[in-house]
Amino acid sequence: MSNQVILQIAVPTPLRCLFDYLPPHNASSATLQTGMRIQVPLGNRKVIGILINKISHSKIDNSKLKTALQILDDKPLLPSTLIELISWASDYYQHPIGDCWHNAIPNSLRKGDNLELRTQKMLRLTVKGKGLPVGALQRAGKQKILLERLQQNGQLSGKQAQEEGISRPVIKALLDKQLIEEVTIEDQHAVLAHFATNQKGSETALSLNQQQQYAKESISKQLNQFNVFLLEGVTGSGKTEVYLQIIAEVLDRKCQALVLVPEIGLTPQTVDRFKRRFSCTIGVLHSGLNDRERLDAWLLSQRGQAGIIIGTRSAIFTPMANPGIIIVDEEHDLSFKQQDGFRYSARDIAVMRGQFEQIPVVLGSATPSLESINNAEYKRYQHLRLTERAGQAKDPEFNLLDIRHKPLTEGFSKPLLDAIEQTLKSQQQALVFINRRGFAPVLMCHDCGWIAECPACDIRMTVHREPPRLHCHHCELIKPLPNHCPNCQSQPLQQLGLGTERSEIALTQLFPTTPIYRIDRDTTQRKFAMENMVNDINQGGAAILVGTQMLAKGHHFPHVTLVAILDADAGLFGVDFRAPERMGQLLIQVAGRAGRAENPGSVYIQTHFPEHPLINTLITRGYPTFAHNLLAERQRLGLPPRSYMALLRSDHNDPDRVTRFLSEVRHTAERQALPLHLVGPLPAAIAKRAHRYRYQLLIISPQRRQLQQAIRSLIQSIETMASARSLRWSIDIDPQDMN
Ligand code: ADP
Ligand code: ZN
Ligand code: ZN
Repeated sequence: MSNQVILQIAVPTPLRCLFDYLPPHNASSATLQTGMRIQVPLGNRKVIGILINKISHSKIDNSKLKTALQILDDKPLLPSTLIELISWASDYYQHPIGDCWHNAIPNSLRKGDNLELRTQKMLRLTVKGKGLPVGALQRAGKQKILLERLQQNGQLSGKQAQEEGISRPVIKALLDKQLIEEVTIEDQHAVLAHFATNQKGSETALSLNQQQQYAKESISKQLNQFNVFLLEGVTGSGKTEVYLQIIAEVLDRKCQALVLVPEIGLTPQTVDRFKRRFSCTIGVLHSGLNDRERLDAWLLSQRGQAGIIIGTRSAIFTPMANPGIIIVDEEHDLSFKQQDGFRYSARDIAVMRGQFEQIPVVLGSATPSLESINNAEYKRYQHLRLTERAGQAKDPEFNLLDIRHKPLTEGFSKPLLDAIEQTLKSQQQALVFINRRGFAPVLMCHDCGWIAECPACDIRMTVHREPPRLHCHHCELIKPLPNHCPNCQSQPLQQLGLGTERSEIALTQLFPTTPIYRIDRDTTQRKFAMENMVNDINQGGAAILVGTQMLAKGHHFPHVTLVAILDADAGLFGVDFRAPERMGQLLIQVAGRAGRAENPGSVYIQTHFPEHPLINTLITRGYPTFAHNLLAERQRLGLPPRSYMALLRSDHNDPDRVTRFLSEVRHTAERQALPLHLVGPLPAAIAKRAHRYRYQLLIISPQRRQLQQAIRSLIQSIETMASARSLRWSIDIDPQDMN
C-alpha cells in the first residue's frame, strides 16, 4: 500500500522513542498535523499522546500496530517553533519526548480538556423562539419579558435573568416549550476580570539614567531579531525599570513579552509593579494555580490576548501568538533548572526559543551565572552593565567581622549587636541572614559523642522547637526529641549550631521591645503569611527580620539599612565546585537588601577567615572581578562553563549494585574510546537518602557536541545492560546541583 500513513506519537512513558500507530478509523489523515493530541491505547490503558511525525513505513510489522483511538484537536496545540523547541530539548537533555511534552503543557491539556477558557451557561432563543409571532404569549408575563430581553440582547446568563426578576420555573417553562435553549460558551469576561486590577497602567515611566538609557536603546533597536543580552546591574540599579520600558515598546508593536522570574521572586509585589505600569492583560503562571487558572492564563497568551506573561520555570513553554521578547530575571537563580525528571534549564531553553522565534532574549541579574558571563566574554551575548544604584540609593558599605576567639552570644558578636542596636535606635530595620532553618543543626551527647542522625539518610537531623521534634530536611522524617542519650542514657543533650528559630529566640531576649519577624519555610507555609509579614514590615519602624535565603530575592524592604550575615564560611569549603559562585551570589543578593531607599545601608559579614581571598575579592572589588577570577579557575581545572558536563546518577538500597552499574558504564565508555573525561563512581554529597545509596559518574568533555554524541551512545548501551535493571538511574546534562 503506497498511501499508507503511520503516526509516530510521543506518549508519556519513560522510553526514549516515538510509538507507531495506525490512524483512527474515522480520521482523514490529511487533517492530521504535528502537535495535535491523540488518544492511543498503551498496554491496557488509554493515554494521550502528541502526533510528532507521519511516515509511510514502520519498522514494526503493520499487523502488530495498534490503531489510535481519537484525535482531540483540530489544530496543533503549539506553534511549530515550540514543537521544534520541545524536540530539540528532548534531544539535548536526552529525555523521553513524551515526558518533555508532559512538562511543557498545562495539566488540563494533558488530561484531554478542550482548549477553552472557563465556560458559562447562557440562554438564547431557538429557531422556533426566533420565529415566534409578535403578540404570542400574551398572558405569560414573565415569559414574555425574558423572550423580549433575549430578542434585544441575543443572550443572557441565568444570573442576569434572575437579576431581572425572572425565576427558574419561568426559564424552565420556555425551555420545555423549546422556545429558548441553554448553551455553554466561553466566559471571556470573567477570565479577563480575574486578571484585572484597579491599578491598571496608573504609573508613568521613570526617566532613565544614562546607563539605563543605553541598555534600553541597545535592546530596543534590535527588537525584531534574535540576540541575547546579558543585563548585569547591581541590586537596585533599575534593571526592572529597563525591562518595563522595553516591554512598553514591544506592546506598541502589538507583540507579547514573556517574563520568567525565580520561584520565590514571583510575589504579588512583582506582579503589581507590572500592573501599575501596563493596562494590557497580564497572565501570571506559577505553582500555586489550579488547573483552570493555569489553562486560562495559557490560553490568553496563546491567543495573543495577554500582552505580558509572567511566570516561573515551566512558563518558558507558554505559546505566544505574537512573540516579541523573553526576559529572564535573576538568570543565575537555581530554580530555573528542574532538578528531577526532565532536567531542563528554563534559562537555556529561553535562549534557544529566542533563536527559534527570532526574538531578543534578555538575561538580567546582579550576580550573573558564570555560564552567562562566559558567553558574554566570548561575545555570544551582548553585555550591558548598570554599575550604580538608580535614583537616590547608595551602594551599601561592607564590614568583615573577624570572629576568631571572640565571645559570641548565640552566634552574634559584640560589634554586630552594637550595630543592630544603633539601627533600631534610629527607627530603621535590620535583616539577619542564616541559611538554616530550625533551632539547631546538631543534637549531640556530650558524654559519648552520639549524634542524632536520620536512619534513612546519611545526614544529621535538625532540632526544631515549634513544635519540638527532630526533622530530616532531606526525607522529611520526623522523630520525637529525645531527652536523654539513646546510647549512654546520659542527659541533657546538647543542641549545637544555629538555625533561624534559635536566632529568633535569642534576638527576642536581646531586644525585647522590638518586633521580630522570622521568614523561612516554616513560617511562610500558610497562604498570605509572607504577604502579611512583608506588609507589616514595610509599615516602617524599628524591626528585625531573621531568615533564610527566602529573604534574598524578590522582596523590597525599604526600611532595612543593616544586613548581617551570621556565618559566611560554609560556602568557602563546599564540596560542589559551584559552592564559591553560589556563596558570592547569595552574599551580594542578601547585601542588596540593605539601603534600597533613601537611607544608606551597611552589611556585616561574620567570618573565621577574614583573609580568605574569595570573600575579600568579593567585597572589595565586587562581583564582576570575583566572577572573573572564578572563571579563570574553572579554566585551569577544566570545569564548566569552560568544559561541558553531564552527571549520571544512580541509587538503590544495595550500594554494591549501584557502584557495579556505574563502573560498567565507565568501562563501556572507555572501551568505546569515547573522548571523555570520566570521574567516579563517587558517592553523592548526601550518600544515603531515604534508605537509598546514591552514587554518580561525572562525564566531562571539552566540546558540547562530543559530549552529546557520547552520552547518546552511552544511553543506548545502558538500556541493554543487565546491571541497569532494577535500579534507578538518570542523566543530567549541564547539572547545576551536584548532589
Ligand atoms: P533592580 O531591578 O535592578 O533591583 P529596580 O528596577 O527595582 O532595580 O529599581 C530599584 C529602585 O530604583 C526602585 O525603587 C525604582 O523605582 C528606582 N528606580 C529605577 N530606575 C530609576 C530611575 N531612572 N530614576 C529614579 N528611580 C529609579
Ligand atoms: Zn551518650
Ligand atoms: Zn532522612
